[in-house]
Amino acid sequence: MRIVLLGPPGAGKGTQAVQLAERFEVPHVSTGDILRFVVAWQTDIGQRAKSYMDEGELVPDDLVLELLKIRLAQEDARAGFVMDGFPRTLPQAESLDDILSEIGHKIDGVLYLEVPDELIVLRLSARASCPTCGRTYNLHASPPKDDMKCDRDGSPLITRDDDRPEVILQRLGVFKRQTHPLIKYYEDRGILRTVQGAGSKDEVLERMVGELDDMAGRSS
Ligand code: AMP
Repeated sequence: MRIVLLGPPGAGKGTQAVQLAERFEVPHVSTGDILRFVVAWQTDIGQRAKSYMDEGELVPDDLVLELLKIRLAQEDARAGFVMDGFPRTLPQAESLDDILSEIGHKIDGVLYLEVPDELIVLRLSARASCPTCGRTYNLHASPPKDDMKCDRDGSPLITRDDDRPEVILQRLGVFKRQTHPLIKYYEDRGILRTVQGAGSKDEVLERMVGELDDMAGRSS
């Protein structure tokens, strides 16, 4: 099972990718998470990536691709993955096809999470996450029980540097200009389904699983 999640920032890709990965027992591969990890370790690559991320710009393809190849070569990703945050440009989509075809595989399905702009801004400006376990919270809709502490492990929650209002608008613009064309790219190949991303976490998950089941049924 090789699934790609497409959608604007704040569409819920990360949250849904975690749930889908658990359901299908494959790893969740997020280039955003990999990049944040590299930044936290203050490597040269991390310093280079951070300057783009802080501005809401895309990190150059060569750097992201290098990190993605390392991740996909790991044992657990051989049987499949749920990918979130990659590809974000047409050259990245073509590179992903090349990487997979070298090992005799292809993408099974692409789910596009569609969410209105107003909801994106609301969600991202209320987002906080746990640096220890990665769980995310909406501080308005589903706040932690104890003020700004993770329900699971008690770590103080953090907000992302790129969830500031001016950077959110920049990221949204980048999505529209650079990532949106991928919808047609995958639609033309007959592997894209659009899922409405508004609603509860579980409602959206069931919509996604329904589309994947339908796609699998049609191809068998
Ligand atoms: P995300 O966690 O997916 O929202 O990504 C956070 C930031 O990491 C983005 O705004 C980009 O700066 C960078 N990033 C993540 N994935 C990619 C990618 N595939 N290509 C370029 N930059 C990326």
